[in-house]
Amino acid sequence: MRFEPTEIARLYGRSRVGVVVHKDLQAVYVNDAYAKMLGRRDVKDFMTAPDMRQYIPPSFHHEATKLSENYQSSTGFHGWKKVYNIRADGSPVWMEISDETVEWEDGSAVLTTAQMIDNGTTAMQVDHMLGRSFIGVMVHRNMTALYVNDSFAHLMGAKNASSFMEQPNVLRFIPKEHQSRAIKHVADILSGDRTGDRHRVEDVLDDGTSVWRDLTDERILWHDGKPAVLTTAHDVRDEVEMHDELVRAKSGLEAAVTEVIRMVPSAVAMLDSKLDVIHYNYEFSRLFGADGTAEDAEPSFEITALRDCYERLKAVGHGHATIDEMQTPSGRMADIRMNMMEGGGVMVSATDITDHKRKEEFLDTLASTDPLTRALNRRGFESAVSRLREIRHLKDKSWLFGLIVLDLDYFKQTNDTYGHSVGDRLLEKVAQVLRQALRDDDLVVRLGGEEFAVLLPSATAAVTKRIAERLASMIREIEVAVDKDGSTVAKITASFGATVGGEGRQKFVELADAMRVADRAMYEAKEAGRDQIKFKTLDEIDD
Ligand code: GH3
Ligand code: MG
Ligand code: MG
Repeated sequence: MRFEPTEIARLYGRSRVGVVVHKDLQAVYVNDAYAKMLGRRDVKDFMTAPDMRQYIPPSFHHEATKLSENYQSSTGFHGWKKVYNIRADGSPVWMEISDETVEWEDGSAVLTTAQMIDNGTTAMQVDHMLGRSFIGVMVHRNMTALYVNDSFAHLMGAKNASSFMEQPNVLRFIPKEHQSRAIKHVADILSGDRTGDRHRVEDVLDDGTSVWRDLTDERILWHDGKPAVLTTAHDVRDEVEMHDELVRAKSGLEAAVTEVIRMVPSAVAMLDSKLDVIHYNYEFSRLFGADGTAEDAEPSFEITALRDCYERLKAVGHGHATIDEMQTPSGRMADIRMNMMEGGGVMVSATDITDHKRKEEFLDTLASTDPLTRALNRRGFESAVSRLREIRHLKDKSWLFGLIVLDLDYFKQTNDTYGHSVGDRLLEKVAQVLRQALRDDDLVVRLGGEEFAVLLPSATAAVTKRIAERLASMIREIEVAVDKDGSTVAKITASFGATVGGEGRQKFVELADAMRVADRAMYEAKEAGRDQIKFKTLDEIDD
């Protein structure tokens, strides 16, 4: 159909139906009704800016451009449809329009008629409500987008909605292995077999990067009268990245903890709230490994003592507890430290103090005993006596003791006759005899060269005398060979001074006083001819 502009004006100029003729979306004719429908003062005002795109919602620019191209290259009437346009002041206007191709000057143009209606169709409503939403929206069918808003377009890497719609196929965003599942999912929603719940997908964009979306699907009736799927999409890339980062950080931390535990020289283990050992190092398995564990098997641990400690820890409510000098299942001695962790587990560290303990004991022995005879020296004797005394007091018993001092007779002469080493052997044998003859609680001390003392806890005067007699006769029995075949032997006797001390009935006799009395008694034995015993009490010496 060919129109002359004057003819159009005559036909439609005063019509209440809006009419516009446009070429490549540029208006070449408009009537008053159309100009006013789109918020223009009049025709003149409308034609100062004839670009039709300003009235078309951005998400439909692409569609409008394509339609206009199609219409211009075909002929005839193209039917009615409902659309919405944006007025000059930004408000929406719902219109029912018809398009028809007409001959215009030396080419073709599109003649559009428009009548205002109260409400639009689905496409218009979707765009009007969700077009500028920050939530991504897509309407699609058969894996092809029918509509997207700018947010969705941005999410999928496009500049805007219309550039996205240049390539409306959306299957390409779905990784190959998920495509058939996605197609089925969408088909099920479209057919109404299922309702779409929120789920998370990873899409691969055209540039190869990926994007995570949380999406919901809903079946709607599109404006062509057929069902379509409306998908909303939230960009959750940050959330996914943060989660991945956290997982990486957590496993990194765990690896670091495991490594640190492995490296520390003391025994370390992490136990969960059920007290199962989750992390441990070699040292820990050495101390607490249950025996019979095969080399390659997961080790099991014997940690009954630790469980008890943990129960106490929980009962007291402190964050930490210690056990000193615990006997571990491996037979080693360890100092234990236990720390409550957040979440209910515990951190256990144990220091093997066995060697340290042995060294300490050795040093202690060295400091308190005489190396030749292994009898106590004076220092060891004094601390042993005060220990004994404390124990007696703790047991609420009186502190009484018998004390015997003995000095070998003519020992200088023995040394001179047989040599120093024979003398040494005799001294060793004397100490040995003293130990054999006495009970565990009794103390044997080497006071000096060939002078010994024996302290007998709780012994009465009678008991002390009797024991001194026994020691005297046992010492007389001692023989040390002085030549290789043992035909000649060295023998020895000793002189004894004995007394009793402690918290007696009448008065208190200190150890030092008792020593003085015993010493004096011993010298009396020497004077009286040696190889005999003298018993004295504190009253009997005249100072
Ligand atoms: P008595 O006590 O009977 O009066 O005569 P004694 O010969 O024992 O007299 P004295 O106490 O003067 O001599 C002690 C001697 O003991 C001196 C020393 O040679 C000897 N003696 C001291 N300590 C040791 C030792 O560790 N080894 C040896 N072999 N002899 C020692
Ligand atoms: Mg002597
Ligand atoms: Mg002497």
